[in-house]
Amino acid sequence: QWGQLKQDLLKSIGKSNYKSWIEPLELSHVEEGVATFAVPTSFVGNYVSQKYGDQILYHARSISPEIRRVHFSVPANQSARPAMARATADAGSGAQPAAPAQREGSMPTAPLDRRFTFDTFVVGKPNELAHAAAKRVASGGPVTFNPLFLYGGVGLGKTHLMHAIAWELSQRQPDLNVVYLSAEQFMYRFVSALRERKMMDFKSMFRSVDVLMVDDVQFIAGKDSTQEEFFHTFNALVDGGKQIIISGDRAPGEIENLEERIKSRLQCGLVVDLHPTNYELRLGILQSKVEYYRTQYPGLLLADGVLEFLAMRITKNVRVLEGALTRLFAFASLVGHEITMELTQDCLADVLRSSERQVTIEEIQRQVSDHYNIRLSDLIGPKRVRVFARPRQVAMYLAKHMTSRSLPEIGRRFGGRDHTTVMHGVRRIDELRVADAQMAEDIDMLRRALEA
Ligand code: ADP
Ligand code: MG
Repeated sequence: QWGQLKQDLLKSIGKSNYKSWIEPLELSHVEEGVATFAVPTSFVGNYVSQKYGDQILYHARSISPEIRRVHFSVPANQSARPAMARATADAGSGAQPAAPAQREGSMPTAPLDRRFTFDTFVVGKPNELAHAAAKRVASGGPVTFNPLFLYGGVGLGKTHLMHAIAWELSQRQPDLNVVYLSAEQFMYRFVSALRERKMMDFKSMFRSVDVLMVDDVQFIAGKDSTQEEFFHTFNALVDGGKQIIISGDRAPGEIENLEERIKSRLQCGLVVDLHPTNYELRLGILQSKVEYYRTQYPGLLLADGVLEFLAMRITKNVRVLEGALTRLFAFASLVGHEITMELTQDCLADVLRSSERQVTIEEIQRQVSDHYNIRLSDLIGPKRVRVFARPRQVAMYLAKHMTSRSLPEIGRRFGGRDHTTVMHGVRRIDELRVADAQMAEDIDMLRRALEA
């Protein structure tokens, strides 16, 4: 059966795509109408699912009509393998930090990411203060700033630094009871302790911690009983001379709905912020990741200027920057190509687009219905008369070219239309733009209005 399906897919998607994407798949089982395929990595799974999911389902159904869905997953024994260096799973290799000690029956600290160490943290102007403070706390000397409060926008390295502190402390002092958890997990534990009437256990558990790290504290804002408990835990630890490290998405004073007494407590220690990255730091981060990738994909070539281009274009968030690089290397290694500028632009088209100002489909729909003086409901609705259908096609055309949405998604946002309808509309406008000066002008005007 799988053999037949493979044959059909080979015919419909062509040999080179087949070799890159379909050949690595294995049909693992079919259960209750869901065909599950084993994929070597989650990257391949996502890619195949997005790009070929529909086709695979189509061909699978023509062989076994009872199949309703296809699913791609990494077999369990493979998914445990972390994506990056210094992360071989065997514990004894010495090069990697040991997991923090877990006291029996006590503190279930959240798992730490093995990649988040000081070694892998790239220091630049925007984060040097936060890094220095984290280093100091991690040196395990007498408690000097308490708490250490780290704040900054998404993806700037708060969690990375906290994990790095935890790794380093537990390496220096294996007996130290280091607990890292998110504010959300703190709340969850607190609520279940309440529910199971285990508040005594909860309290004594948290009071026995040597170093407590709570990530994303803004989460408990507005959650009154959790804040209350957090406040008491905090005080008990500080009074006992224990180190506390907290992160948030903004300065303590600016977190709304956080109790005043907690704010002032958080401000008592050292408050440092991670500034948005600059070009140098982004380039540095990319270079350090590339060094790692070279060990993973030896022989892969990287053209000059690619990293500079990425550092220039993807400015918001280090996570997105890293994701882009991972995808680029995975892609290049699969198709066995040099990473050129062209491949970069192709492979990352969506990321690059979305790091520009994003126009939304709603904005397009609003602008287009204004422009043609029709109602939004008619633009999206079922009527097929030309006065509505043409503007609708214009809007679909703009959605296709100005957003990173896929055709099926655009179809869905236009009253649940099929992706072929969208494709047809886009093509039609493409023709008209050439044939009809008025149309060309309309599109131009709409584009400019939307980009403004
Ligand atoms: P935050 O918790 O602030 O939202 P994270 O610590 O999760 O951000 O960082 C997001 C990603 O970016 C992580 O994979 C992290 O390793 C990486 N990262 C952020 N800053 C740096 C840096 N200075 N050096 C290396 N990697 C970084
Ligand atoms: Mg974080």
